[in-house]
Amino acid sequence: MNNSKNHPLQVAIIGSGPSGFYVAEALLNSGISTEITILEKLPCPYGLIRYGVAPDHQKLKGVSQTLDVIAEHPSVTYLGNVEVGKDIQINELMQFYHILVFTTGMPKSSQLGIEGESLIDVHPSSNFIGWYNGHPDHQSLSFDFNNDSAVIIGHGNVAIDICRVLAKPIDELRKSDIPEQALDLLSQSKINHINLVGRRGPIQAKFTTKELHELGKLENCNVAIHPKHLKLGKQCQQELDEVSNLIAKKNHRVFESYSSNFSTSTGTDKKKITIDFMLNPKTFQGDKNLQSIVFEKTRFEGPAFKQVAIPSDDLVVMSSGLAFTCVGFKGSPFAGLTLDNKKGTLSNKNSRLINEHGEIVPGMYTAGWVKRGPNGVIGTNRECAQDSVNQILEDMPKYVEKPAYGNKSLIEHLQAKNIQFVTFNDWKVIDAVEKEQGQKLGKPREKFTSVSSMLACI
Ligand SMILES: Cc1cc2nc3c(=O)[nH]c(=O)nc-3n(C[C@H](O)[C@H](O)[C@H](O)COP(=O)(O)OP(=O)(O)OC[C@H]3O[C@@H](n4cnc5c(N)ncnc54)[C@H](O)[C@@H]3O)c2cc1C
Repeated sequence: MNNSKNHPLQVAIIGSGPSGFYVAEALLNSGISTEITILEKLPCPYGLIRYGVAPDHQKLKGVSQTLDVIAEHPSVTYLGNVEVGKDIQINELMQFYHILVFTTGMPKSSQLGIEGESLIDVHPSSNFIGWYNGHPDHQSLSFDFNNDSAVIIGHGNVAIDICRVLAKPIDELRKSDIPEQALDLLSQSKINHINLVGRRGPIQAKFTTKELHELGKLENCNVAIHPKHLKLGKQCQQELDEVSNLIAKKNHRVFESYSSNFSTSTGTDKKKITIDFMLNPKTFQGDKNLQSIVFEKTRFEGPAFKQVAIPSDDLVVMSSGLAFTCVGFKGSPFAGLTLDNKKGTLSNKNSRLINEHGEIVPGMYTAGWVKRGPNGVIGTNRECAQDSVNQILEDMPKYVEKPAYGNKSLIEHLQAKNIQFVTFNDWKVIDAVEKEQGQKLGKPREKFTSVSSMLACI
């Protein structure tokens, strides 16, 4: 393909989370002539930086400022409030662009697939996280904090985030950007005991040490682990002793300190977080509301680093009226593209999208969570995006010579369809008003929690 200033590579990036921005950045840095449109289904950009990262981790949310530089580049156009697959279809976009890159993330929680999971008090993590972060799709949800205990299933950082939001004093949360209506409900919470339950052991837990350690620093809260969980079997000890297994070693030290709290953690008026291991959820019990959760005790089989947690007939029943499941995420499907049901990703071969016959779909790529799954930190998406762009550049000579006018044609097309798109300048207006409203309340921002209120603000 002839690539020049008069014939730039026209690229539409679908999704404005960090991966979308990092794909744009890598294209801009590649030295080719390119024009990029970033399409986002919500009026506001940044994906899970705005709607996933915990509200009490404001410093991290500040990463969005580094993404603004990319959005404001003259070769980049941001169009929010445009949902691909709903407002505009993939085949329509292909009329205007040489390349589509899907960076749509994984908006849905994976399910355990067990009995009782649909009871009203059993919440997939994405619903609760979206609710306390002010995501418009989750504002009609309700959570019953009128329970004295909650159970969180899963041993990763998402579970820790949820645990912190439930355990942190409300006055601390008021300094975050949790919307006022969520703070109102959380301020009435009666939860004083939270169980963090995983089906494997302490050496296999996916927590990062910083987040694990932060739990122990919560005001008026004790974190406890039964000492029996730290008596390791031979294979677990072997995993812990492995020189490169640094996270497990660091976590283990934190677990040991929590285990020394175990005997003193009851009988105080402090909140309590218990971390439980080797329990596999079997059934959520209740009529309409959740009453208890049945777990099967598990035991390990197999060699070190390949141990599998096998459920046994030995059952443990935990009484609780509120549960959160944090067992992974999955992407949303698009008509004409295939979703890998096992991984929850868009099916791809090294970033190139493939159809149901395993054939590469020309001109379509992916990056970020929806390409590789929900792992790594925000910076991991930058490497991932660079890798996707490397594949795009490798394929450049294959692109058919076709006229493509990118955002100019797309904007006319959206206007003809009466779709009210949001520009980056429009977003900046929303951003400024949110910050101003937040300042009055002594918080970083007060988010608009509906699309209509964001549009009205513009
Ligand atoms: C609860 C939680 C806490 C986290 N905390 C941290 C942390 O503390 N530190 C850290 O480093 N990482 C953290 N992460 C991970 C980090 O958020 C992800 O690595 C990152 O957001 C993934 O980026 P992405 O762009 O692939 O997806 P996303 O951030 O999900 O962005 C996808 C974007 O695509 C848009 N979209 C989806 N479908 C469409 C469509 N059809 N049309 C147009 N737009 C669409 C979405 O609205 C969204 O804006 C956390 C994740 C979660 C879930």
